[in-house]
Amino acid sequence: MKQILIISGKGGTGKTVISGCLAVLLKNKIIVDADVDAANLHLLLHPKIKESYDFVGGKLARIDKEKCSGCGTCIEICKFSAISEDFEIDPLFCEGCTICSYFCPESAIILEDRISGKYFISETKYGSLVHARLGIAQENSGKLVAKLREIAKDIAEKEKKDFIVIDGPPGVGCPVMASMTGVDLVIAVTEPTLSGLHDLERILELANHFKIPVKVIINKFDLNPEMSSKIESNLKQKNIDVIGKIPFSEEIINSVKNQIPFLEYAKMFNKNRDIAELIEKILNNALYSTL
Ligand code: SF4
Ligand code: SF4
Repeated sequence: MKQILIISGKGGTGKTVISGCLAVLLKNKIIVDADVDAANLHLLLHPKIKESYDFVGGKLARIDKEKCSGCGTCIEICKFSAISEDFEIDPLFCEGCTICSYFCPESAIILEDRISGKYFISETKYGSLVHARLGIAQENSGKLVAKLREIAKDIAEKEKKDFIVIDGPPGVGCPVMASMTGVDLVIAVTEPTLSGLHDLERILELANHFKIPVKVIINKFDLNPEMSSKIESNLKQKNIDVIGKIPFSEEIINSVKNQIPFLEYAKMFNKNRDIAELIEKILNNALYSTL
C-alpha cells in the first residue's frame, strides 16, 4: 500500500482539484482530507458520514467554585491571562499548561479534555474518506492530521487498499509535517508566481529532509510562461521533475463551482476533455514512474 500526498505551499493553487482527480483515477484506495483547518475536499466528493468522533486536542482548565477560596494565585500565575477577576477560564486563552492547577492551594482547578473538533469516516462514490472539522480558533491540527492518517492506514491495511491519497494542508508547518512523514510520494502543485516558487522551495526542503521523492505540477502555467520556465530550470538544477504543466481553464473553475471532480466533470459535460486527458496522463506518470 502506497501513500501519496498532494501538497502546495499555499491555498488556491489547485491542490484539491488534483486530489479530486486522483480520487477518480485510482480505484482501490482510501482518501484523507488532511487540510483540517480549511477542509474542502468533501465539497467535491459528497461524503456520507458513517462514523463520527470527538477530537480531543488538549486540556482546558476549569475552576470548581465550591472549592475556590478566591486567593487569586491562579490569576497571578497564569502566563496566558486566561483567568478573569471573577475566576472564569477563557477557553480562547487557556493553553492547558496545568500550572494553575499545580499551584492552587485548594485543589480547585481541574484540567479537562478539550473537544477541539470532530473527525469522520465517510463513504463516497470514489471510496472511503477520512476527514475532520476543527473548531474555530482551535489548535493541534498536526495532532488531528496524525489521527486521520492513523485511521486511514488501519482501514487501508484491513481492506487491503493499494493507495492512501492525502490532500495535504498548505504551508510547511506542523500539520504539513504530520501529513508528510512516511508517505511514498509527494505531488507538489504550484503556480507560476514568485510566491509559488518560494513556497515550492520550502516544500522541497521539507521533503528532502524526510527523503521523500517529489514530483511537481505547474498549474495555470500559461498565465506566466516566463515564470513557469524559471521554476522548471530551477527544479532541473535540483534534479526534480516537473511532471506536467496544466493550462488555465475556466472549466476547471466551473467543475469546482459545480462540486464535481474535474475528470468526471470534463466527461459529463464534454468540456476540456484534452485537459482532463492531460491531467490523467500526468498523474499516471507521477505514480508509475515512482512507485
Ligand atoms: S488558586 Fe485556586 S483557590 Fe486560589 S483563586 Fe485560583 S482557583 Fe481559587
Ligand atoms: S491551564 Fe495554564 S493557561 Fe490554562 S488557565 Fe491554567 S495556567 Fe492558565
